[in-house]
Amino acid sequence: MTSAASPSPVRVRFCPSPTGNPHVGLVRTALFNWAFARHHGGTMIFRIEDTDAARDSEESYAQLLDSLRWLGLDWDEGPEVGGPHAPYRQSLRGDIYRDVARRLREAGHAYPCYCTAEELDARREAARKAGRPSGYDGACRDLDPGRIAAYEAEGRTPILRFRMPDEPVTFTDLVRGELTFTPENVPDYGIVRATGAPLYTLVNPVDDALMEVTHVLRGEDLLSSTPRQIALYRALADIGVGKGGVPRFGHLPYVMGEGNKKLSKRDPQSSLNLYRERGFLPEGLLNYLALLGWSLAEDRDIFTMDEMVTAFDIADVNANPARFDLKKCEAINAVHLRRLPPEEFARRLVPHLQAAGLLPAEPSRDALRLLAEAAPLTQERMVTLGEAVGMLGFLFVAPEDFRVDEADAAKVLGPDARPVLLAGVKALEELPEFRAEPMQDALRAAVVDGLGLKPKVAFTALRVAVTGRRVSPPLFESMELLGRDETLRRLRAALD
Ligand code: GLU
Ligand code: ZN
Repeated sequence: MTSAASPSPVRVRFCPSPTGNPHVGLVRTALFNWAFARHHGGTMIFRIEDTDAARDSEESYAQLLDSLRWLGLDWDEGPEVGGPHAPYRQSLRGDIYRDVARRLREAGHAYPCYCTAEELDARREAARKAGRPSGYDGACRDLDPGRIAAYEAEGRTPILRFRMPDEPVTFTDLVRGELTFTPENVPDYGIVRATGAPLYTLVNPVDDALMEVTHVLRGEDLLSSTPRQIALYRALADIGVGKGGVPRFGHLPYVMGEGNKKLSKRDPQSSLNLYRERGFLPEGLLNYLALLGWSLAEDRDIFTMDEMVTAFDIADVNANPARFDLKKCEAINAVHLRRLPPEEFARRLVPHLQAAGLLPAEPSRDALRLLAEAAPLTQERMVTLGEAVGMLGFLFVAPEDFRVDEADAAKVLGPDARPVLLAGVKALEELPEFRAEPMQDALRAAVVDGLGLKPKVAFTALRVAVTGRRVSPPLFESMELLGRDETLRRLRAALD
């Protein structure tokens, strides 16, 4: 218990299982916990729920850490930073769980269940037919020692089952308000496998209790496990595990994807790696994910994480399902991208150009200078950093590797383009100063006035010949950056 004078400091946890690739739903959960902790000056715990050896992987574990680091969602206790409740990987906490399971059993909060899968199935089926609740029927709740001995003699190995109280469980969800679950709907449930391996149902609340978690903010898909967990926290308090508090719960709304179906981990749209590879900014992606259930203010879609932390209140989270809208996510990212100082924007392009083989691992000073000059030309035109590969590649590609986009060439570099290219070459050869402004005047005179063409038509042919695509940074600046020799070489190549 805490006194009013010294409120318990907020302690939240982000506790994913390391299976598969991190996905946006997971990131939303991490973000809301983090924002809540930071808003209250509390503690963010990062715990790895890796008790399922068949599904957990080291690779996924490493990706989780890397993803949170990339997003800037820092944690105060957990892997790599340690803390008073270490270790923070459940696979390293087996002794703790075995001890707690034994004590729960000794105190009568849990009991061995010897039912086989076939027996359970048959009784479930019968109950369903009779219109009775079809969950576990409590058959092993009060086995006498003789019965137990007989089962053991048969060679059966029991699971450990938690004994749910016979009265309803009521709690006030921070998002959904008061909820009540009646005993018929929350049967006794397994907490330790027949192999002795502890289950999520046990280890998650045990660690919350030991780590003194005050608030559990997680997805709505876990709502049905909450009454079971609340009963377990009470039993843990009874046997002296943890400080005795039951955390407050807040269940974050479902995220819907295409066709109004729940966005699933397997949905390609939900893979965090995809957003990283495309070049979303952490600040853009987090801003968008924050809107999946929360908003800073009406008509206020764009904000920084500092602004979110200042304003975040779990009571403002909306219980209605949120819709994942990729277009909106992109638009928000584009705004954050434009907000970056130009040098920072250029710096963030580097890994994308490197991944595409356009910059070496150790770029030269000249290459970085070129990038610094070119980047601002594209900053207003990009939605994600990855677009730099297509837009700026023409400046960094080796002359022998330069190719014109075939579809664009077919559209604008046909026979009609010949006079344009010829006039362009001539004008640029004669230009005393190879800079954007005089170039614009000279080309306008040569191809627009000289040939009587619309600027768009005339300049698109030049653009495709020089930058390789119809979408590029501004043409004259692009030519200036490319230099006279290479510009002329490309125009002549297009003529051939
Ligand atoms: N490891 C659980 C999961 O990833 C955590 C659930 C919870 O937040 O309690 O689903
Ligand atoms: Zn049983």
